[in-house]
Amino acid sequence: MSGLTVLAPLSVEARAVRAGAAWARVHRVGMGPRRAARPVPVPEGDPVLIAGFCGALDPELEPGDIVLASELRGPTGTTPCPDPSILAGLLRRGGLRVRVGPIASSQRLVVRERRRVLHRSGALAVDMESAWLASSTRAQPLVTLRVVLDTYRHELHRPLRTLAGAAIAYRTLRSACAMVEDWARALGPREVVLASPRASCAGVVRAVEIVERALEDRGAPIYVRKQIVHNAHVVADLERRGAIFVEELDEVPRGATVIFSAHGVSPAVRAAAANRGLDVIDATCPLVAKVHAEARRFAGSGFDIVLVGHEGHEEVEGTFGEAPARTQVIASAEEVDRVRVEDPERVAYLTQTTLAIDETGVVVDALRERFPALVGPSSSDICYATQNRQDAVRALTADCEVVFVVGSGNSSNSRRLVEVAERAGCRAALIEHGTDIQPELLIGCGRVGLTAGASAPETLVEEVVRALDGLGGATVSERTVAREDVHFKLPVEVRPKR
Ligand code: SF4
Repeated sequence: MSGLTVLAPLSVEARAVRAGAAWARVHRVGMGPRRAARPVPVPEGDPVLIAGFCGALDPELEPGDIVLASELRGPTGTTPCPDPSILAGLLRRGGLRVRVGPIASSQRLVVRERRRVLHRSGALAVDMESAWLASSTRAQPLVTLRVVLDTYRHELHRPLRTLAGAAIAYRTLRSACAMVEDWARALGPREVVLASPRASCAGVVRAVEIVERALEDRGAPIYVRKQIVHNAHVVADLERRGAIFVEELDEVPRGATVIFSAHGVSPAVRAAAANRGLDVIDATCPLVAKVHAEARRFAGSGFDIVLVGHEGHEEVEGTFGEAPARTQVIASAEEVDRVRVEDPERVAYLTQTTLAIDETGVVVDALRERFPALVGPSSSDICYATQNRQDAVRALTADCEVVFVVGSGNSSNSRRLVEVAERAGCRAALIEHGTDIQPELLIGCGRVGLTAGASAPETLVEEVVRALDGLGGATVSERTVAREDVHFKLPVEVRPKR
């Protein structure tokens, strides 16, 4: 049973809430500011959900759309609301349309010009109680969920339209309340422990800066082959600023500027760019370039190369392309038996830079057992950022009940962080945003670990902290296992002029 109290102004709203969430305490407060301003019977510090209908101010909202308040604007001022991202994500995954933004509370019905004025103020929706309810309770958190009944084009004084909207709004409110039990059970204050180091590594910072500087110096569009780094948020942001991401070079107009991503490219791609007369800026991470150089050196000395990594990953494709006739890619110790070499005395191994260190060691041991003369790179190819982030996430697993890793699904280093945490016996989940957090992972969980893959910016970590804080408060601390001060020089094409 959850401790959530739901405040519903009208009896029809209270009925919809009870029909969806029979487990919740539902209190009907009555319609309008005067009733909403009366003290409500909720113990101080308990969680409260204000649930009911609203009028849309944003013309894009339709009956049945849900608005979660980011702030409540009343005649006497604005009350900021806890971040409702986790609830928004839960409802969206359930198939409901959800917007997050300001809700205005008005003393009377808002129609015609008054509605347009409020819309211009930036509020998404309007009701007649939420701001007063917020000031009459000391809830923690106090979340406001309103379902659109009447819209910008079809206002409340048009009875037929309103009836249809009311039926849709009722059904949506009932469905939404039927989905929120896990969220309600996850409400409450908790500790959030941040891994350090976490998020963007030096190679990612450099690659993103290369695109930004190219856009600044040369103007849009700037073409980028593949995602510059494996993070959807970073890519979308650069796209907005004028970068065009392409899969292959034949999508780039002849003579245009193209940037190679941080994961590196094969010599064949470099040759194709030269043939098209493209102006290339290379954002390959210097640590990936080092692996390419090792591949050339081993192949030049007549070694067969076993490249430990994930087939199809761009970094592996690029390294493989340095010596395709002499390189075989394997991902696990079980695949060592299928390796074929010309001379067992001349076998070298290389690895993808973002693998899990413990698993890679197992594969290299199996290779060495089969090829005792096996040689490897002068220092581990697993880069400093991968190593530090994996050490840091392992340190979280000692006392965190769940670990969230911020990163995109195609980010190898982020996925490895999830696996490292799981192998250490901790529940872990990969998330792109706070909206991806599944509340059931947080039920009964007092301490959450949080980290981010090397391709994810710190701003996304801050966003997730706000989302966790929105469940009832987050006390944030940091656990540091290493200090990083690595910086890579920009390529000459985008280096600031002196
Ligand atoms: S994870 Fe390592 S190899 Fe990959 S871009 Fe970052 S620093 Fe370079």
